Amino acid sequence: MAEKLLRAGMNVARFNFSHGSHEYHQETLDNLRKAMENTASSAPSCFDTKLRTCRDRKSNGLLEGWKPVQLKQGQEILVSTDYDIKGDEKMICMSYKKLAEDVFPGSVILCADGTITFTVLACDKAKGLVRCRCENTAMIGSDLVEVRKLLGEHAKSILLMSKVENQEGVANFDEILANSDAFMVARGDLGMEIPIEKIFLAQKVMIYKCNIHGKPVVTATQMLESMIKSPRPTRAEATDVANAVLDGTDCVMLSGETAAGAYPELAVATMAKICLEAESTIDYSDVFKRIMSNAPVPMSPLESLASSAVRTANSAKAALILVLTRGGSTAKLVAKYRPGMPILSVVVPEIKTDSFDWSCSDESPARHSLIFRGLVPILCAGSARASHEESTEEALEFSLEHAKTKGLCKAGDAVVALHRIGTASIIKIVTVK
Ligand code: PGA
Repeated sequence: MAEKLLRAGMNVARFNFSHGSHEYHQETLDNLRKAMENTASSAPSCFDTKLRTCRDRKSNGLLEGWKPVQLKQGQEILVSTDYDIKGDEKMICMSYKKLAEDVFPGSVILCADGTITFTVLACDKAKGLVRCRCENTAMIGSDLVEVRKLLGEHAKSILLMSKVENQEGVANFDEILANSDAFMVARGDLGMEIPIEKIFLAQKVMIYKCNIHGKPVVTATQMLESMIKSPRPTRAEATDVANAVLDGTDCVMLSGETAAGAYPELAVATMAKICLEAESTIDYSDVFKRIMSNAPVPMSPLESLASSAVRTANSAKAALILVLTRGGSTAKLVAKYRPGMPILSVVVPEIKTDSFDWSCSDESPARHSLIFRGLVPILCAGSARASHEESTEEALEFSLEHAKTKGLCKAGDAVVALHRIGTASIIKIVTVK
């Protein structure tokens, strides 16, 4: 089934850790890897799990500006039971309402999994405040900052996608977005936490903000719900998928339809068809203008190059934008400007000694690209190269051949290529042979 789903158009697999054991998910992951090998395709794995550090499910208990707080040994700090305050180095909060009644001068409070020790100096029961002395120097982080720390070395090859599931998440959206690599509009939980008639607006606002920041966004839940039981979606569902694409979503997600439905393959194929149709109706120069009008000023050289490549490709009616990239960031910036044609992101490995060297982790930028609208990643491995120029030309030729076999362009088409030569960045229009 995993092979069938990949062939039908699935390009990300979500593992929902709200259900199933780790063993079960490992088995599914092994199956997916085998299926990718058998179908010569790629799909990143998205691990959907609840992470909690310094906040409760209502998003309170956050640190001001989501910034980590540095605590110094010997300093005094107030612990408040008002969970609405935003913590800083003078005051942090906790959700246990009776704290000031239950502790007394001399009590010890351990926090952040015991990595920080406070000694209680005084309690103000009426105000719910406890004055403490910090016994060690430590850092308290919130949410995503801590998660990245926990991931350590692996953080480089993992994207953090935040899921907004309630009103507080919607209210704190800008801060959450600034600290996330990608986003999910979790309409299932959102629909239980905010009035149902407001979901469409939350979806549109969140997608819009993600688009102008160039961060990929997933629209999730009940997209083709009736296909759990029926081989055809309702008209409303089909229109919902198309509207999410028109709103600017990068990904549309299936849940029960593929996890437990009777027509998983058909659901993916149906969704893929609707997406293609919706994408074909978009006025891309209009979208380009909208994203440009919200672009940062001054723009970074890379972003300015990426947006120029999109403008060139749109006006030259190019069939494809081809980006030679190492870590994938140039291709992602091209995707931000939503060109009207696919972007072939050719991930070229670092040239070490005289040959390309691939290791497993090098594949992650290519896989990650699959959650960005319009990005088609390929890995470009090769043998010995005499010079950087030659390897670039060879990578371009290899990519164009690949693009032709994938039906992304044909002889006579214009292709906009974006790559570096030495310290210079080049945009050129190539005619496919
Ligand atoms: P879920 O998340 O499928 O884990 O519920 C998505 C949502 O809430 O919409």
